[in-house]
Amino acid sequence: MQPDTFEHPDNPARFMREALAQARLAWEAGEVPVGAVLVLDGEIVGQGFNQPISARDPSAHAEIMALRDAGRRLGNYRLPGSTLYVTLEPCAMCSGAIMHARVERVVFGAHDPKTGAVGSVVNLFAEVRLNHHATVEGGVLAEECGTMLSAFFASRRGKAKTGEAS
Ligand SMILES: [Zn+2]
Repeated sequence: MQPDTFEHPDNPARFMREALAQARLAWEAGEVPVGAVLVLDGEIVGQGFNQPISARDPSAHAEIMALRDAGRRLGNYRLPGSTLYVTLEPCAMCSGAIMHARVERVVFGAHDPKTGAVGSVVNLFAEVRLNHHATVEGGVLAEECGTMLSAFFASRRGKAKTGEAS
């Protein structure tokens, strides 16, 4: 077995499945289903799901919740050497938090053409003036991640007909 097993190409999918499990928790809470896990040395040290409505907090995105969870567990607001797995391309706010936390690598599932800040709308990780050099990889289990989102919005459109605002 190679010493850098957590970098094994099979593991991005394994951890993305854990992020998808978090996304399902968001769906069950009536929130847009996005989930995230933070991995350090091959172990999950933080997890979270999107919950701005129930938390009454516009910053309660999955990535931020996972970073907060890891910060509490590890007793440090900086998380060098970690990899964040998230089912949807991070927005500008989350990308900023990822940089402040010194996350080393970001792996995301579906691209977000509306608010994605890792290449879809802008690419903050390609901005050398921000002086942060996390590596990024998109498209891991993209179909599963995207399907969960489109199924959620389809079900919500059904509810909207009954008068529930989106
Ligand atoms: Zn975000």
